[in-house]
Amino acid sequence: MGSLGPLPGGFQTDIIFSLQECLFCRIVRHEIPAQIVHEDEQALVFKDITPQAPTHLLVVPKKHLGSLSASTDGDAPLLGHLQRLACRVAEDAKLSSYRLVTNNGKGAGQSVDHLHYHLLGGRPMQWPPG
Ligand code: AMP
Ligand code: ZN
Repeated sequence: MGSLGPLPGGFQTDIIFSLQECLFCRIVRHEIPAQIVHEDEQALVFKDITPQAPTHLLVVPKKHLGSLSASTDGDAPLLGHLQRLACRVAEDAKLSSYRLVTNNGKGAGQSVDHLHYHLLGGRPMQWPPG
């Protein structure tokens, strides 16, 4: 379904459609099940469905942002919250070493267009990443 154009009040139907259909927005709304390890007012942390490490969690803002690039200076407190949350979750998982990464854009491997940080740990990591 494409855009039907502007609605009264300035809402764009394509934006409304993407929020309804966005996979991670649906997980945030508990419409799709996930193995949630933390939830607060601003964020959700759940297990990645295709884990790439013994610990592979996704740290996701409840606010829909298509990617890190879609954030603005006004989102700085939210971005800080996500990083501190990742740190606390890593501590809870007893991870002394871990990687926190976001894939920004298709060329970097982003497949879900809702900002998320991968928290990976529990095995040796290589650098540079592939
Ligand atoms: P990215 O490719 O960086 O956009 O990361 C998206 C991640 O979401 C991938 O690691 C997927 O395995 C993960 N993923 C996709 N669908 C689900 C789901 N329903 N529940 C949990 N993780 C998912
Ligand atoms: Zn979303």
